[in-house]
Amino acid sequence: VFVAFEGGEGAGKTTQARLLAIWLRDQGFDVVTTREPGSTKIGMRLRALLLDKETSGLSARAETLLYAADRAQHVAEVIQPALERGAIVVTDRYVDSSLAYQGAGRELKVKEIAEVNRWATSGLTPDLTIVLDVPSEVGLSRFASPADRIESEPREFHERVRRGFRALAEAEPHRYLVVDATQPQEQITRQIHDRVRAILPD
Ligand code: C5P
Ligand code: MG
Repeated sequence: VFVAFEGGEGAGKTTQARLLAIWLRDQGFDVVTTREPGSTKIGMRLRALLLDKETSGLSARAETLLYAADRAQHVAEVIQPALERGAIVVTDRYVDSSLAYQGAGRELKVKEIAEVNRWATSGLTPDLTIVLDVPSEVGLSRFASPADRIESEPREFHERVRRGFRALAEAEPHRYLVVDATQPQEQITRQIHDRVRAILPD
């Protein structure tokens, strides 16, 4: 079983991914939690390059390919082996982040980014993608100041990203859960459990 958390800045993905993993482990499941970018040795170097505020002049297409390279390594080294041994994999970001940030955000063609990523991941798609939806001003206000290159992007960029995630979920509602992430944490967690329960093996 492969579950991805997606959403903009400050949506609470990391917290909810952690809580979901604890809940699943309590039920006896073997769970691997992971995140993008940067969950492999090679990926850590790509993450540093991608998020460093000193990185300048990186083209949108080059950025897309570096995220895809990080993801290809992530799938090959972490996700695929875990799924093969029967673990539940919970990832903090996956392909949809590229479709939303580089597609909607950078205004590249979403379909083309999807093709690049289909190749990078050998087509590995989550069984469930949970989009934590939060207005960008609410998400960004959860940080004192922009921590990386992307958080420093203007409000409109983050609003396009948010709409990008919502559009992906609307196109494939059976494979997505969209949660209003302005709700209290326990309510968000409950909605996630209700949906994940339905895809768990016996
Ligand atoms: O830890 P966090 O998820 O915040 O760090 C990853 C950052 O990389 C995100 O904040 C997001 O701004 C950026 N990102 C991106 N494009 C992706 C994935 C992540 O711009 N495809
Ligand atoms: Mg961030």
